[in-house]
Amino acid sequence: MKVLLILVDGMRADAIANHPVAKKYMEKSFHTLSAKTVMPSLTLPCHMSLFHSVEPTRHGTTTNTYMPPAKPINGLFDRVRLFNKKSAFFYNWEQLRDLSKPGSLELSYYLHGATAVSNDKLTDEAINHIGQHDLTFLYLGHVDAAGHDFGWMSGEYMDSIDKSWANIDRIVSQLPEDYAVVITADHGGHDRTHGTEMAEDMTIPLMIMGNNIEAGVIENASIMDIAPTIVKLMGIPADEEWEGKSLI
Ligand SMILES: [Zn+2]
Repeated sequence: MKVLLILVDGMRADAIANHPVAKKYMEKSFHTLSAKTVMPSLTLPCHMSLFHSVEPTRHGTTTNTYMPPAKPINGLFDRVRLFNKKSAFFYNWEQLRDLSKPGSLELSYYLHGATAVSNDKLTDEAINHIGQHDLTFLYLGHVDAAGHDFGWMSGEYMDSIDKSWANIDRIVSQLPEDYAVVITADHGGHDRTHGTEMAEDMTIPLMIMGNNIEAGVIENASIMDIAPTIVKLMGIPADEEWEGKSLI
């Protein structure tokens, strides 16, 4: 099965609990609004843990500056490449460029500036490439920027959440049958920041949907479970170094 992973940076779980489009997706997916991210609840450490299925103490990136792991580890994109499958990555926050080793991506599409407009353009570009890759990662950065500028749960933040779900709905509604979809966030936030152990920062939503995936509630999910779940959907064994578990 092909997989589309969509991550909305800084999307708090409780920010979507009553969102009409998100609710529609929750009703038809295996989902939770209480998955846990890792500490520190910052963008690059959390993404590294999502893609490498280990704690920041293992991958070594504990700030938004990438640090090569002391002991190398394969991430999700590297694992997909190892099994001769193709990945595409669409993003608008450049620090994410080190999520995979050089040579692991078939397509990397970066737009400068995590704005609402670039979120829309990234979604357009991902839609243009539907069906061409086994794994597609669409990263939407504007919700986090709105949180830092105006505050988490502010009107501007909620407006960005709303626009992000319009993009999610736009791409998912165009997917062929052979796709599974995973929708999540890297961390939440409070006031105009994140990075702490507060529940507002640490709690993330997670939705998994596709043929043969029954709707229901996921118990005890971690951001580190996402990579093992995605390779399982793709028919690839998880890396032995990974610490998370497949949720399906
Ligand atoms: Zn983030």
